[in-house]
Amino acid sequence: MLCFFGLTLKELEDVIGGTGKERYRARQLYRWVYNKGVYDFSMMDNIPKGLRTLFRDMLDMETIKPLEPTASMDGSVKLSFMTKDDNIIESVLIPEKNRLTLCVSSQIGCRMACSFCVTGKIGFIRNLETHEIVEQIIGAKKYLNVSPINGGDRITNIVFMGMGEPMDNFENVVRTIEIMKEPLGLDFSRRRITVSTVGLIGGLKRLQPGTAGLAISLNAADEQKRTEIMPINRMYPIRDILDFVRHYKGSPRERITFEYVLLKDFNDSLEDARMLYELLKGIRCKINLIPFNESLYSQFRTPDKKTVDQFHAYLIDKCMTAIVRNSRGPDVNAACGQLGMAYLLSKKAML
Ligand code: SAH
Repeated sequence: MLCFFGLTLKELEDVIGGTGKERYRARQLYRWVYNKGVYDFSMMDNIPKGLRTLFRDMLDMETIKPLEPTASMDGSVKLSFMTKDDNIIESVLIPEKNRLTLCVSSQIGCRMACSFCVTGKIGFIRNLETHEIVEQIIGAKKYLNVSPINGGDRITNIVFMGMGEPMDNFENVVRTIEIMKEPLGLDFSRRRITVSTVGLIGGLKRLQPGTAGLAISLNAADEQKRTEIMPINRMYPIRDILDFVRHYKGSPRERITFEYVLLKDFNDSLEDARMLYELLKGIRCKINLIPFNESLYSQFRTPDKKTVDQFHAYLIDKCMTAIVRNSRGPDVNAACGQLGMAYLLSKKAML
Protein backbone atom coordinates (compact mmCIF):
# COMPACT_ATOMS: atom_id res chain seq x y z
CA MET A 1 0.00 0.00 0.00
CA LEU A 2 1.14 3.55 -0.68
CA CYS A 3 1.38 6.04 2.17
CA PHE A 4 -0.83 9.01 1.44
CA PHE A 5 1.27 11.37 3.58
CA GLY A 6 4.45 10.56 1.70
CA LEU A 7 3.12 11.78 -1.65
CA THR A 8 3.46 15.28 -3.03
CA LEU A 9 0.40 16.52 -4.90
CA LYS A 10 2.10 15.87 -8.22
CA GLU A 11 2.98 12.31 -7.20
CA LEU A 12 -0.56 11.65 -6.03
CA GLU A 13 -1.85 12.93 -9.36
CA ASP A 14 0.51 10.54 -11.16
CA VAL A 15 -0.55 7.63 -8.97
CA ILE A 16 -4.23 8.29 -9.58
CA GLY A 17 -3.63 9.00 -13.27
CA GLY A 18 -1.82 5.67 -13.43
CA THR A 19 -4.97 3.83 -12.40
CA GLY A 20 -6.83 5.41 -15.30
CA LYS A 21 -8.86 7.74 -13.05
CA GLU A 22 -9.05 11.52 -13.25
CA ARG A 23 -5.90 13.26 -12.01
CA TYR A 24 -7.92 16.07 -10.40
CA ARG A 25 -9.14 13.59 -7.79
CA ALA A 26 -5.74 14.11 -6.17
CA ARG A 27 -6.61 17.75 -5.56
CA GLN A 28 -9.90 16.75 -4.03
CA LEU A 29 -8.13 14.32 -1.72
CA TYR A 30 -5.55 16.92 -0.73
CA ARG A 31 -8.31 19.38 0.14
CA TRP A 32 -10.28 16.88 2.21
CA VAL A 33 -7.33 15.60 4.11
CA TYR A 34 -5.08 18.61 4.63
CA ASN A 35 -7.61 21.45 4.55
CA LYS A 36 -10.68 19.93 6.06
CA GLY A 37 -9.03 17.38 8.30
CA VAL A 38 -11.20 14.56 6.98
CA TYR A 39 -9.22 11.31 6.96
CA ASP A 40 -12.05 8.88 6.31
CA PHE A 41 -12.59 8.30 2.60
CA SER A 42 -16.23 7.31 3.10
CA MET A 43 -17.01 10.91 4.10
CA MET A 44 -15.59 12.49 0.95
CA ASP A 45 -18.92 13.13 -0.71
CA ASN A 46 -17.72 14.79 -3.91
CA ILE A 47 -15.91 11.57 -4.86
CA PRO A 48 -17.93 8.67 -6.31
CA LYS A 49 -18.39 5.75 -3.92
CA GLY A 50 -16.44 3.28 -6.05
CA LEU A 51 -13.46 5.60 -6.14
CA ARG A 52 -13.59 6.13 -2.39
CA THR A 53 -13.24 2.37 -1.95
CA LEU A 54 -10.39 2.27 -4.44
CA PHE A 55 -8.54 5.03 -2.57
CA ARG A 56 -9.19 3.36 0.77
CA ASP A 57 -7.65 0.13 -0.48
CA MET A 58 -4.76 1.89 -2.16
CA LEU A 59 -3.68 4.57 0.32
CA ASP A 60 -2.51 4.03 3.89
CA MET A 61 -3.61 6.94 6.10
CA GLU A 62 -1.94 6.05 9.38
CA THR A 63 1.48 4.45 9.51
CA ILE A 64 2.52 5.69 12.96
CA LYS A 65 0.31 5.06 15.97
CA PRO A 66 -0.29 7.89 18.42
CA LEU A 67 0.57 7.03 22.04
CA GLU A 68 -0.67 8.86 25.13
CA PRO A 69 0.34 12.57 24.91
CA THR A 70 2.02 14.19 27.92
CA ALA A 71 1.32 17.78 28.88
CA SER A 72 3.97 19.87 30.58
CA MET A 73 3.29 22.35 33.39
CA ASP A 74 4.37 25.10 31.01
CA GLY A 75 1.64 24.35 28.46
CA SER A 76 3.70 22.45 25.92
CA VAL A 77 2.61 18.96 24.97
CA LYS A 78 4.78 16.05 23.97
CA LEU A 79 3.26 13.79 21.34
CA SER A 80 4.66 10.30 20.87
CA PHE A 81 4.07 7.83 18.10
CA MET A 82 4.98 4.18 17.64
CA THR A 83 6.31 3.26 14.22
CA LYS A 84 5.57 -0.01 12.46
CA ASP A 85 9.05 -1.28 13.38
CA ASP A 86 8.55 -0.45 17.08
CA ASN A 87 10.50 2.76 17.33
CA ILE A 88 9.26 5.88 19.03
CA ILE A 89 8.94 9.22 17.29
CA GLU A 90 8.36 12.33 19.36
CA SER A 91 7.14 15.83 18.55
CA VAL A 92 6.41 18.76 20.82
CA LEU A 93 3.65 21.37 20.57
CA ILE A 94 4.91 24.63 22.00
CA PRO A 95 2.42 27.45 22.64
CA GLU A 96 3.87 30.94 22.76
CA LYS A 97 2.19 34.31 22.82
CA ASN A 98 1.12 34.55 19.21
CA ARG A 99 2.32 31.21 17.96
CA LEU A 100 1.76 27.54 18.25
CA THR A 101 4.93 25.82 17.13
CA LEU A 102 5.31 22.14 16.36
CA CYS A 103 8.79 20.72 16.79
CA VAL A 104 9.18 17.60 14.62
CA SER A 105 11.73 14.80 14.49
CA SER A 106 13.49 13.85 11.27
CA GLN A 107 15.35 10.71 12.36
CA ILE A 108 15.18 8.02 15.01
CA GLY A 109 18.31 8.68 17.00
CA CYS A 110 21.06 10.73 15.38
CA ARG A 111 24.50 10.18 13.88
CA MET A 112 26.02 13.48 15.04
CA ALA A 113 26.91 12.36 18.59
CA CYS A 114 27.01 15.85 20.11
CA SER A 115 28.22 15.18 23.63
CA PHE A 116 25.60 17.27 25.44
CA CYS A 117 22.59 15.91 23.54
CA VAL A 118 20.68 12.89 24.73
CA THR A 119 19.55 11.91 21.24
CA GLY A 120 23.25 11.82 20.39
CA LYS A 121 23.69 9.14 23.04
CA ILE A 122 21.17 6.88 21.37
CA GLY A 123 23.18 6.84 18.21
CA PHE A 124 21.57 6.44 14.83
CA ILE A 125 18.72 4.02 14.34
CA ARG A 126 17.22 5.15 11.04
CA ASN A 127 15.92 7.99 8.93
CA LEU A 128 12.24 8.84 9.13
CA GLU A 129 10.29 8.44 5.93
CA THR A 130 8.56 11.50 4.51
CA HIS A 131 5.17 10.18 5.58
CA GLU A 132 6.42 9.64 9.12
CA ILE A 133 7.42 13.30 9.35
CA VAL A 134 4.21 14.59 7.76
CA GLU A 135 2.15 12.33 10.02
CA GLN A 136 3.62 14.05 13.07
CA ILE A 137 1.90 17.21 11.84
CA ILE A 138 -1.33 15.32 11.18
CA GLY A 139 -1.12 13.73 14.63
CA ALA A 140 -0.67 17.17 16.17
CA LYS A 141 -3.64 18.54 14.21
CA LYS A 142 -5.81 15.67 15.39
CA TYR A 143 -4.70 16.28 18.97
CA LEU A 144 -5.46 20.00 18.74
CA ASN A 145 -8.91 19.34 17.31
CA VAL A 146 -9.84 17.58 20.52
CA SER A 147 -7.63 19.53 22.96
CA PRO A 148 -6.81 23.06 21.81
CA ILE A 149 -3.95 24.66 23.75
CA ASN A 150 -4.93 28.01 25.30
CA GLY A 151 -7.82 28.09 22.84
CA GLY A 152 -5.46 27.67 19.88
CA ASP A 153 -5.99 24.79 17.50
CA ARG A 154 -3.90 25.93 14.53
CA ILE A 155 -0.22 25.13 14.17
CA THR A 156 1.46 28.35 13.06
CA ASN A 157 5.10 27.25 12.82
CA ILE A 158 7.06 24.08 12.24
CA VAL A 159 10.63 23.60 13.38
CA PHE A 160 12.87 20.62 12.58
CA MET A 161 14.41 20.62 16.02
CA GLY A 162 13.26 17.30 17.41
CA MET A 163 15.25 14.12 17.20
CA GLY A 164 17.74 13.81 14.39
CA GLU A 165 19.75 15.86 11.96
CA PRO A 166 17.48 17.03 9.12
CA MET A 167 20.31 17.61 6.64
CA ASP A 168 21.38 14.00 7.17
CA ASN A 169 17.95 12.90 5.88
CA PHE A 170 18.00 15.38 3.05
CA GLU A 171 15.61 13.92 0.46
CA ASN A 172 12.86 13.06 2.91
CA VAL A 173 13.08 16.41 4.67
CA VAL A 174 12.93 18.33 1.40
CA ARG A 175 9.92 16.29 0.24
CA THR A 176 8.25 16.89 3.59
CA ILE A 177 8.75 20.63 3.21
CA GLU A 178 7.30 20.48 -0.30
CA ILE A 179 4.21 18.73 1.05
CA MET A 180 3.94 21.19 3.94
CA LYS A 181 4.03 24.14 1.57
CA GLU A 182 1.47 22.89 -0.96
CA PRO A 183 -1.13 25.68 -1.20
CA LEU A 184 -3.97 23.21 -1.67
CA GLY A 185 -2.80 21.31 1.37
CA LEU A 186 -1.18 22.42 4.62
CA ASP A 187 -0.12 25.69 2.98
CA PHE A 188 2.75 26.67 5.28
CA SER A 189 4.84 29.52 3.95
CA ARG A 190 8.61 29.15 4.07
CA ARG A 191 8.75 31.80 6.76
CA ARG A 192 6.89 29.47 9.08
CA ILE A 193 9.25 26.53 8.63
CA THR A 194 12.71 26.32 10.21
CA VAL A 195 15.30 23.67 9.57
CA SER A 196 17.83 23.38 12.38
CA THR A 197 21.15 21.76 11.56
CA VAL A 198 24.61 21.13 12.99
CA GLY A 199 25.78 22.70 9.73
CA LEU A 200 26.10 19.86 7.21
CA ILE A 201 27.26 22.17 4.49
CA GLY A 202 26.92 19.58 1.75
CA GLY A 203 23.18 19.45 2.46
CA LEU A 204 22.83 23.17 3.04
CA LYS A 205 24.33 23.87 -0.36
CA ARG A 206 21.94 21.46 -2.04
CA LEU A 207 18.99 23.13 -0.36
CA GLN A 208 17.30 25.54 -2.72
CA PRO A 209 17.68 29.01 -1.14
CA GLY A 210 14.38 30.15 0.28
CA THR A 211 13.18 26.60 0.96
CA ALA A 212 12.79 27.32 4.66
CA GLY A 213 14.32 29.35 7.43
CA LEU A 214 17.72 28.09 8.59
CA ALA A 215 19.05 27.67 12.09
CA ILE A 216 22.58 26.47 12.65
CA SER A 217 23.67 24.97 15.95
CA LEU A 218 26.95 26.70 16.63
CA ASN A 219 27.23 26.06 20.37
CA ALA A 220 30.81 27.27 20.63
CA ALA A 221 32.73 30.17 19.13
CA ASP A 222 36.07 28.46 18.92
CA GLU A 223 37.01 25.51 16.72
CA GLN A 224 38.59 23.43 19.43
CA LYS A 225 35.74 23.83 21.86
CA ARG A 226 33.18 23.08 19.18
CA THR A 227 35.02 19.93 18.16
CA GLU A 228 35.03 18.85 21.78
CA ILE A 229 31.22 18.87 22.00
CA MET A 230 30.33 18.42 18.32
CA PRO A 231 32.52 15.88 16.51
CA ILE A 232 31.04 16.99 13.18
CA ASN A 233 33.15 20.16 13.55
CA ARG A 234 36.11 18.16 12.25
CA MET A 235 34.36 17.78 8.93
CA TYR A 236 32.50 21.11 8.86
CA PRO A 237 34.41 23.58 11.01
CA ILE A 238 33.10 26.96 12.11
CA ARG A 239 35.05 28.78 9.40
CA ASP A 240 33.34 26.77 6.65
CA ILE A 241 29.94 27.39 8.21
CA LEU A 242 30.55 31.12 8.33
CA ASP A 243 31.81 31.05 4.79
CA PHE A 244 28.56 29.38 3.75
CA VAL A 245 26.48 31.89 5.69
CA ARG A 246 28.28 34.89 4.21
CA HIS A 247 27.50 33.67 0.70
CA TYR A 248 24.01 32.44 1.43
CA LYS A 249 21.41 34.03 -0.78
CA GLY A 250 18.13 33.47 0.99
CA SER A 251 15.12 35.64 0.42
CA PRO A 252 15.58 39.37 1.07
CA ARG A 253 15.49 40.27 4.76
CA GLU A 254 15.95 36.63 5.70
CA ARG A 255 18.36 36.10 8.57
CA ILE A 256 20.01 32.89 9.57
CA THR A 257 19.65 31.92 13.22
CA PHE A 258 22.58 30.64 15.24
CA GLU A 259 21.76 28.44 18.18
CA TYR A 260 24.10 28.44 21.12
CA VAL A 261 23.51 26.01 23.95
CA LEU A 262 24.88 27.49 27.17
CA LEU A 263 26.85 24.89 29.10
CA LYS A 264 27.97 25.78 32.60
CA ASP A 265 31.69 26.55 32.88
CA PHE A 266 32.26 25.39 29.32
CA ASN A 267 31.05 28.07 26.91
CA ASP A 268 29.16 30.53 29.14
CA SER A 269 31.81 33.06 30.18
CA LEU A 270 32.00 36.68 29.07
CA GLU A 271 35.11 35.72 27.13
CA ASP A 272 33.00 33.18 25.24
CA ALA A 273 30.40 35.89 24.58
CA ARG A 274 33.13 38.15 23.27
CA MET A 275 34.43 35.44 20.93
CA LEU A 276 30.91 34.80 19.70
CA TYR A 277 30.50 38.49 18.98
CA GLU A 278 33.83 38.67 17.16
CA LEU A 279 32.84 35.68 15.07
CA LEU A 280 29.40 36.91 14.07
CA LYS A 281 29.81 40.66 13.88
CA GLY A 282 28.91 41.96 10.46
CA ILE A 283 26.78 38.90 9.65
CA ARG A 284 23.04 39.48 9.45
CA CYS A 285 21.85 36.88 11.89
CA LYS A 286 19.92 36.13 15.05
CA ILE A 287 21.33 34.33 18.05
CA ASN A 288 19.23 31.96 20.13
CA LEU A 289 20.82 31.27 23.49
CA ILE A 290 19.52 28.01 24.93
CA PRO A 291 20.37 27.32 28.56
CA PHE A 292 21.29 23.65 28.70
CA ASN A 293 18.61 21.16 29.77
CA GLU A 294 20.13 18.80 32.24
CA SER A 295 19.59 15.07 32.14
CA LEU A 296 20.90 11.94 33.74
CA TYR A 297 22.73 11.14 30.56
CA SER A 298 25.08 14.09 30.43
CA GLN A 299 27.64 15.55 32.79
CA PHE A 300 26.97 19.11 31.62
CA ARG A 301 25.08 21.52 33.85
CA THR A 302 22.89 24.57 33.27
CA PRO A 303 24.50 27.94 33.98
CA ASP A 304 22.77 30.00 36.67
CA LYS A 305 20.41 32.70 35.53
CA LYS A 306 22.86 35.50 36.28
CA THR A 307 25.49 34.00 33.98
CA VAL A 308 22.91 33.56 31.22
CA ASP A 309 21.73 37.14 31.64
CA GLN A 310 25.29 38.50 31.53
CA PHE A 311 26.10 36.54 28.38
CA HIS A 312 22.90 37.81 26.79
CA ALA A 313 23.47 41.41 27.92
CA TYR A 314 26.98 41.40 26.45
CA LEU A 315 25.62 40.53 23.00
CA ILE A 316 22.77 43.02 23.22
CA ASP A 317 25.21 45.70 24.25
CA LYS A 318 27.12 44.96 21.03
CA CYS A 319 23.86 45.43 19.09
CA MET A 320 23.51 41.76 18.18
CA THR A 321 20.01 40.30 17.91
CA ALA A 322 20.03 37.70 20.65
CA ILE A 323 17.30 36.08 22.67
CA VAL A 324 17.31 33.58 25.49
CA ARG A 325 15.21 30.59 24.55
CA ASN A 326 14.19 28.70 27.58
CA SER A 327 13.40 25.18 26.50
CA ARG A 328 9.91 24.05 27.09
CA GLY A 329 8.59 20.91 28.66
CA PRO A 330 11.57 19.72 30.74
CA ASP A 331 9.20 18.05 33.25
CA VAL A 332 7.93 15.68 30.57
CA ASN A 333 11.31 15.20 28.90
CA ALA A 334 10.21 17.25 25.94
CA ALA A 335 12.95 19.86 26.06
CA CYS A 336 15.71 20.21 23.45
CA GLY A 337 17.88 17.15 23.39
CA GLN A 338 15.62 15.06 25.60
CA LEU A 339 13.42 13.32 23.08
CA GLY A 340 13.06 9.63 22.56
CA MET A 341 15.27 8.84 25.40
CA ALA A 342 14.67 6.04 27.79
CA TYR A 343 12.80 3.77 25.41
CA LEU A 344 15.20 4.15 22.51
CA LEU A 345 18.30 3.88 24.69
CA SER A 346 17.11 0.59 26.09
CA LYS A 347 16.10 -0.58 22.65
CA LYS A 348 19.49 0.31 21.24
CA ALA A 349 21.17 -1.50 24.12
CA MET A 350 19.32 -4.65 23.13
CA LEU A 351 20.25 -4.47 19.47
N1 SAH B 1 20.29 18.20 14.68
C1 SAH B 1 19.70 19.49 14.63
C2 SAH B 1 18.32 19.58 15.25
C3 SAH B 1 18.09 18.92 16.59
S1 SAH B 1 18.70 19.65 18.06
C4 SAH B 1 20.63 20.53 15.24
O1 SAH B 1 21.61 20.15 15.84
O2 SAH B 1 20.39 21.71 15.07
C5 SAH B 1 17.94 21.21 18.24
C6 SAH B 1 18.76 22.13 19.16
O3 SAH B 1 18.76 21.64 20.51
C7 SAH B 1 20.22 22.24 18.75
O4 SAH B 1 20.59 23.59 18.70
C8 SAH B 1 20.97 21.55 19.89
O5 SAH B 1 22.25 22.11 20.05
C9 SAH B 1 20.04 21.81 21.07
N2 SAH B 1 20.19 20.90 22.19
C10 SAH B 1 20.49 19.59 22.16
N3 SAH B 1 20.54 19.08 23.41
C11 SAH B 1 20.23 20.08 24.24
C12 SAH B 1 20.10 20.19 25.65
N4 SAH B 1 20.24 19.14 26.42
N5 SAH B 1 19.76 21.40 26.16
C13 SAH B 1 19.57 22.47 25.36
N6 SAH B 1 19.66 22.42 24.03
C14 SAH B 1 20.01 21.24 23.48
